[in-house]
Amino acid sequence: MQGRPLIISGPCSAETEAQLLETATLLAQTGKVHMLRAGIWKPRTKPGMFEGVGSVGLPWLQKAKQQTGLPTTVEVATARQLEDALRHEVDVIWIGARTTVNPFSVQEVADALRGTQVPVLIKNPINPDLDLWMGAVERIARAGVQQIGLIHRGFSAYGNTEYRNAPMWHLAIEMKRRNPEMLMINDPSHIGGRRNILADIAQKAIDLDFDGLMIESHVNPDEAWSDAKQQITPAQLQAMLEAMVWRKENIDSSAFHAALEALRQQINHLDDELLQLLSQRMKIAEQIGTYKKENEITILQTNRWNEILERAFQRGEQAGLIPAILMQCTWKASVIKTK
Ligand code: PEP
Ligand code: MN
Repeated sequence: MQGRPLIISGPCSAETEAQLLETATLLAQTGKVHMLRAGIWKPRTKPGMFEGVGSVGLPWLQKAKQQTGLPTTVEVATARQLEDALRHEVDVIWIGARTTVNPFSVQEVADALRGTQVPVLIKNPINPDLDLWMGAVERIARAGVQQIGLIHRGFSAYGNTEYRNAPMWHLAIEMKRRNPEMLMINDPSHIGGRRNILADIAQKAIDLDFDGLMIESHVNPDEAWSDAKQQITPAQLQAMLEAMVWRKENIDSSAFHAALEALRQQINHLDDELLQLLSQRMKIAEQIGTYKKENEITILQTNRWNEILERAFQRGEQAGLIPAILMQCTWKASVIKTK
């Protein structure tokens, strides 16, 4: 697979030969895209929605590759789909979020991958479960696949309105930490679910040192047969990529490194002190817990809880902390306290 940042783009679904070829040609003309994506088999939430054109679309992808030189990538969920895709020279396979959740399906695809040399990208499962994501990676790796990459497409969250799938960046960062040799690609399209927030999500991923982006694009997004709201035209994709700030992972300046190191030392000292303080606080909370138990007093006393929140908000704001952080700190403190 290519170096960083890898840009994968193309329609959510291959719809017609003309739609795919036109999109691919325009994407290639941007000079910014390294790989063409297109859904051939679409796992849809409800029956009756467009479920992909199926194998008939694979020759269209072959043609798009011949005409543009772009390698192709397709989602597969079964051994049969994998075999069809490979027969039509698909270059990279991806495993979708609804497949990663199912070990039977992942194992079926893994068994069918044995003996092939095709790179595989594994999307995070729809639920925020790192072990499930790791499990899929292990199944594919055990099948002898050498090149495995990861795609962060966000997680289903109940009542979530800002995003289609909550990014939960910390999970992707942890996955990246556990698999430093694997590419970590961000999919702002399925996280955002609407085109006006794609750029912000993509920028955040690049600022977090992700290795690439998978972004859905379509010649006529509003008319797309699936995921219309989140697709953009190749021209919009080009403008978006050009407007982004591509930070470097590192620079070769000793002055920069010395200054950064000094600040990091300060952070380390403060972290040490915070840990000491938290440990002292926990010991006192334990004493309170024992004391309440001995006296048969409930763990939670609402007026004390209110007092803690009020104090934390007041003092925290004076210290320049924002309410969202305070909410997390006080919630964690309450968990420690009530144990
Ligand atoms: C897709 O990439 O079009 C898709 C179905 O994504 P996900 O598996 O992330 O839902
Ligand atoms: Mn899609």
